[in-house]
Amino acid sequence: MNNAEIVELAHANLVNNYGCMPLAFVRGHGAYLYDADGNRYLDFFCGLAVTSLGHGHPRIVAAIKQQAEKLTHASNVFHTEPMARLAARIVGAFGDGRVFFANSGAEANEAALKLARRWGHAKGGRFEIISTLGSFHGRTFGTLSATGQEKYHEGFQPLVPGFKLVPYDDIGAIERAIDPKTAAIMVEPIQGEGGVVMPRPDYLARLRQVCDRAQLLLIVDEVQTGMGRTGKLFGYQHSGIKPDIITLAKALGGGIPIGAMVARSEVAAVMTPGTHGSTFGGNPVACAAALGVFDALEQDGLIANAAEIGQYLITRLREIARECPDVRDVRGQGMIIGIALKHAAKPVVDACFRERLIVNGTADTILRLLPPLILTKEEAEAGLGIIERALRAEAGTAGA
Ligand SMILES: *Cc1c(COP(=O)(O)O)cnc(C)c1O
Repeated sequence: MNNAEIVELAHANLVNNYGCMPLAFVRGHGAYLYDADGNRYLDFFCGLAVTSLGHGHPRIVAAIKQQAEKLTHASNVFHTEPMARLAARIVGAFGDGRVFFANSGAEANEAALKLARRWGHAKGGRFEIISTLGSFHGRTFGTLSATGQEKYHEGFQPLVPGFKLVPYDDIGAIERAIDPKTAAIMVEPIQGEGGVVMPRPDYLARLRQVCDRAQLLLIVDEVQTGMGRTGKLFGYQHSGIKPDIITLAKALGGGIPIGAMVARSEVAAVMTPGTHGSTFGGNPVACAAALGVFDALEQDGLIANAAEIGQYLITRLREIARECPDVRDVRGQGMIIGIALKHAAKPVVDACFRERLIVNGTADTILRLLPPLILTKEEAEAGLGIIERALRAEAGTAGA
């Protein structure tokens, strides 16, 4: 089937909840994707920060194939080796802790919220979760209630009670919001979907202090920032603290759906048999893929590459921005980069797309780059050239 045929068939039968681009991808290799008409695209999007090792990474492909031939599902009534090994790998990186496996970011966050409530109830009936405006934590009712963006709430009210939203990067606002019912604070190290919003460098460290003082859990949503995206394995590691709970998904499975909640052992202990679960959680094929991701990150030096090439992209984009009056700000860390524009990002996204570079717009005016951690300097240059031309072409034409 070609692009048009696939798009037509999809439109005729799918719920129309995505503003989909009118094309279909059929294969990928490294930093490149190929559509159903045979066109090649440079991928600075990674399917929303998921395929961080690029497409068709041999370690991940081999891990999936080998596991698929052996066993694809057993359920959490039993143990499997990939799940046991992956949990050990994640705990090895987090330090003291325990892992719960889910299948998506929302489910990992849902588990974190449920754990925080259960922990709070055991501490004298505390249940409230404080999260931040501009945040994104998922689309289930619980995670939607923690998400600080009204556009996602529209038409779905009433939301789950027991959530409070405060401005991001504002310690005073958090302190004022804490009351005797508060159990936890939930934040992203960088607000990804909210527009690559970077807090001050000491934000997480100060949140840690606030949580220690008030005996609250600090939940750090690493669904987008985790697995090397920021130039460290986890985004919080830039701040020198340890959260009580982190959540992972997106890049964890290298393209296979998997989510994980990781909690300090003492906190995790309030989840006893029967309190929470997921039929597919910890699926052996997904866990094998994630083990392949850990292997590749470690053995191929990909996190260092993400830090280096990411910094190079940011530096070059800032140079380009000096010549583009429509760029307000270039910000980011490692391979999560936002270019804040004075106008809508969509025309620039479209201009890049016409030159076969995939980027993404978020929070209306933010051009977001989420390139694969395997990106070479040459591929970075190719993308930068296209972005520069797109920014120049749209300058003035898009209106203020
Ligand atoms: C994408 C995202 C989620 C939701 O993940 P899903 O897999 O779509 O449920 C949660 N938190 C953050 C920070 C995200 O970027």
